[in-house]
Parts: sequence; C-alpha cells; structure tokens
Amino acid sequence: MNRFFLPANTIQTAKVQFPADRSHQIVRVLRLQKGDHVCVLDNTGKSYLVELVELDAKSCLGEIIEVLTNDTEPKTNVHLIVALTQREKFEFILQKCTEIGVNRFTPVFTERSIVQGMSEVEKKAERWGRIVMEASEQCHRTRIPHIDEAIPLKQSLLIDAEQKLIAFENNHKFNIHSALSGSMDEKIAVLIGPEGGFSQQEVELAIANGWKSVSLGPRILRMETASMVAATLILDHFGELD
Ligand code: SAH
Repeated sequence: MNRFFLPANTIQTAKVQFPADRSHQIVRVLRLQKGDHVCVLDNTGKSYLVELVELDAKSCLGEIIEVLTNDTEPKTNVHLIVALTQREKFEFILQKCTEIGVNRFTPVFTERSIVQGMSEVEKKAERWGRIVMEASEQCHRTRIPHIDEAIPLKQSLLIDAEQKLIAFENNHKFNIHSALSGSMDEKIAVLIGPEGGFSQQEVELAIANGWKSVSLGPRILRMETASMVAATLILDHFGELD
C-alpha cells in the first residue's frame, strides 16, 4: 500500500485533501484508481487508512476509513552527527540511517571534511528533506527524521544528549555496547568523521566536552558504513531492532 506523509492541515476529521504534487503522483505516476486504499501519515506518529474517492491530477480527495496505530518509531532517539561529504555519499547516509531508525541528523564541518563552505550545502535542505521523507515512507516509519542546518564540529559538541559518542578508529578498547552499558537513556548522539578521519585535536576536544570515544571494531570502515554500523549497534543495544 502506498504511503504519503502529508501536512497536518490536509487531514481533516474524516477527509484528506491531497496537495497538488501528491495528487499528480497518485493519478499520473502511481495510476491509482477510485476506491483504492492508501496510508496517510501526519508525521506526529499517527497514520490513517484512506480510500480515494475523487481522483484529479491537481487535487485528489480521500475518505479516512480507520486511524492506524502501528507506531514503528524507536523509543531511543539516535542523533547522527556526520561530517559533510560529497553529495551521493551524504544522501546515501541519510537514506540508510533513516531506514535503520535515526531520528535526527546534523551535518558538520570538520577539519578534514570534504565540504567546507556553507555555499556548498545551501539549497540542499529541500532535497535532503525529500530523501528522508521518501525513505521513511518506504520503510514504513511513522515519523520523518529531522535534519539540522550544517554547523561546525565545535558547535555540535555542545548539543543536548544523555549519551554522547564519538566514533574513533584509533580507539580499540571501548565499543558501543560497553559505552552504553547500564544506560536507560533515550537520547544518544554519535559523531562520525570524514574520509580523512577526525584530527587528534577534534577527538580531544570532544572528550573534553563529555563525549566518549568508541570503537566500531578493528577494521577501518568507510564513513557511510560507520554511520550505519553505529546507528545499528545503538538501536540494537536498546532492543529497537527486535
Ligand atoms: N582515518 C581513517 C578514515 C576515517 S573513516 C583511515 O585511516 O582511513 C571515517 C569515519 O568513520 C571515522 O572518522 C570514524 O568516525 C568512523 N570509523 C571508521 N572506522 C571506525 C572504527 N573501526 N571505529 C570507530 N570509528 C570508525
């Protein structure tokens, strides 16, 4: 069944007024028919079973048949702070980590991040937003992860989280499970560096700001692999992948 995140104001008591872009997708791309059922989500965690009653490529109308309760969102809020890198790789990280269950992304400029200037990331917000929305629809999530504005690494070290982990490949003694052992926390932030890695100073600054340096194993992972592995290990640690 097709799933659509829609702005809350399109979902009234018993009816759903599909915006023009979604109406075009329903009629022209998906070629859905009157009477077909779709799932509409309001990005608050609620979802609705909707029957298409009027089909028009500019404005489709649906009737809400049932409020659905299956909430697939993890209770653990994983906040991935990841160095900016070239477009495809960054978008890959957004898509895969959305599927795994990351709730929030913060792109950061680090000493060695391939992308350094705000000019290179401006105008990306809309595209990135579409990528995480489509990934959430595809993997049946009921929320869309939030993507922050890109900030310098230093600023990201001050974010609010109960557990703050920096993935550092030169640390082989402390893995994610040991870093999180005994924690019942809900807000876990994890920092993933660029292809060239974090500088020693960046790691030291993170540790000075209360971040724990963690290993993702003895092998050196590409940053996109490290992002997925870190998100998976954190969510699995809290039983969110059962
Ligand atoms: N400095 C590495 C490349 C960095 S990998 C090299 O020598 O080739 C990109 C990022 O992925 C790193 O900054 C780190 O955050 C993470 N990462 C990769 N492998 C890791 C590992 N085994 N343990 C912890 N973090 C790792």
